[in-house]
Amino acid sequence: MSPRKYSLVLALLAAPLAVNTAPAQQVDTTGAGRLITQAMDHSEVMANLRHLSDAIGPRLSGSPAMRRANDWGAERFRSYGLTASLEAFPFGVTWTRGPISARLVAPFERPVIAYSWAWTVGTGGQLRTGPIVRADINSPESLAASRDRIRGAWVMLNDPAFVWNPDGPAMTAADSADRRAALERRRAERAAGDTSAAARERARQFSADRNQLLADAGVLGVITDGGKEHTLLTMSGSPFRVSPLPNIVVPHEDFLMFSRQVEAGLAPRLAVSIENTIGTAPVEQWNTIGEIRGSEKPDEVVIVGAHYDSWDLSQGVTDNGASSMAVLEAARIIQASGLRPKRTIRFILFGGEEQGLIGSRAYAEQHASEAAKVQAVLVLDNGTGAITGQALQGRTEFEQLWKDLLAPVASLGASNVRPNNKGGTDHLAFVPYGIPAFNYDQISRGYDHTHHSQSDSYDKAVEGDLKQAAAVMAVNAYMLANLEDLLPRGEIRD
Ligand SMILES: [Zn+2]
Repeated sequence: MSPRKYSLVLALLAAPLAVNTAPAQQVDTTGAGRLITQAMDHSEVMANLRHLSDAIGPRLSGSPAMRRANDWGAERFRSYGLTASLEAFPFGVTWTRGPISARLVAPFERPVIAYSWAWTVGTGGQLRTGPIVRADINSPESLAASRDRIRGAWVMLNDPAFVWNPDGPAMTAADSADRRAALERRRAERAAGDTSAAARERARQFSADRNQLLADAGVLGVITDGGKEHTLLTMSGSPFRVSPLPNIVVPHEDFLMFSRQVEAGLAPRLAVSIENTIGTAPVEQWNTIGEIRGSEKPDEVVIVGAHYDSWDLSQGVTDNGASSMAVLEAARIIQASGLRPKRTIRFILFGGEEQGLIGSRAYAEQHASEAAKVQAVLVLDNGTGAITGQALQGRTEFEQLWKDLLAPVASLGASNVRPNNKGGTDHLAFVPYGIPAFNYDQISRGYDHTHHSQSDSYDKAVEGDLKQAAAVMAVNAYMLANLEDLLPRGEIRD
C-alpha cells in the first residue's frame, strides 16, 4: 500500500468520527483570576442563602413564600446591576399543608411523627382511628380480595423500604440472601404475568385510579415509608396527581415497627387528624431570570440555572436553595468583576422543578425559537457540595472543551470530566432541543439524607463549597460566552 493510499484510508476511517467531534475551540482563560478573587474575597452567597432560608423559608411551588422568593430574587439580581424579570408558566392547583396529629393507640400509646404526602387531602380535621393493615393492591382482583380487611383501616401498600444504616447492625449473609430471594421472586412473578400492551395499559390505569378506588372502599388513608434513617422523612407529590385519599409519611423505624406488629398479630391502631387545603383552579408559577447582556453577540445566550422551589418540611437549603444562591452569586461575581461577556449570560432560578421540571420545560418550550442560539445550559442541583467537575450527558465530543473550561478552576477541585448521563434535574428540559446541557457533579455532603427531609436546613450549607461552586460557574459561563463559535448541537428529539 502506497503512503498516499494509506492516508486516504485513514481519512475515510476518520470521516464518520468527524461528525461527532467538536471543532477544537480555543478557551480564553483571561479574566478567570479576577472572577475567582471576586468569588473568594467578596462573597455574598451565605448572606443571601441565610435570608432565603430563615426569612423567606421553604418554597413549596404555589405557596406565597415561593412568590416572595421570586420577587426577592429578581430584586437581588437588579441590586447587582443585572436586568431581571419573572416569566410565568402554567402550574396546577395549589396545595397548603395544614396541621396534622398522629398517635399510635394500640398495642400501646405513643405519638407518631407524620406528614401528609403533598397534594393529598386531609381528613377535614376529623380524627380517623382504625387498624393498621398491610395489603398488596395492584389490580382490581387484589382490591376485591382485600376489600373487607382495608375498610376503615390505615393501609401500608408496600413492604418496608430498604434503608442501609452504615452505623447499624451489619446485614448478615442470611438477610441479604432473603432480600435477593424476594427480589428474584417478584421478578419471576412479573415475568410470568401478562406482559402484553393491553395488560400494561390496564395496570397503568389501575395505578392512576387506585387512590380513588381505595377511598371508595372506605380506606382511612395510606401509610408511606419515610425511606431514610434516623426518622428522616422524604416528601414528594404533584398537582397532576391530586389524591382524594389521605396519605401520611412516617419514619422508616415506625413503618418497620407497624410491619412487625401486624405480622405478630398485635393489631396496631392509628389515630390521625389532618387539615390540608387544595386550590380550586390552576395557578401560574414563575421562573426568576437575571441577565447580563452580551457585548458582541447579545442574541446568543449561555444559561446558568438552578431550581428555586423546594419541599417544605425544613428550609429547602441543600435542595436547592444553596445552588440557587450560588447561581445568584455567579451573576454578582461576573457583574462585579467588570468583565463584559461577548454573549449574553442568563441566570435562571427555575420554578416547579420538584413537581416534574415544570418551570424549565415551560421555559425551553416558550423559548424554543431561540434554542439554536443557546450556547450551553449549566445546572447545579446536587446539594451544597463543591463542584468536582462535569458530566458530559453523553456528549463525549466535548471532553477536551470541558477539560479546558475547568482548567482555571482545577486548583479549586473542579477538574473531573466524565461521559455520564444524569437525570432528574432541569438540564434535561433543554436536551431535546439539541442544546448542550449539563448538570455539574458535586461532593455529596450528605445530600441523600437531607434532601426532601425535615433536616434540609441552613446549617448544612458549607460556605467554602458554595463560594467554590459560584466561582466555577462564573468562570465556565464567562468562557462559554466568549468562545469563538457556538457549540455543535445534539440530536433534536420530539
Ligand atoms: Zn433539587
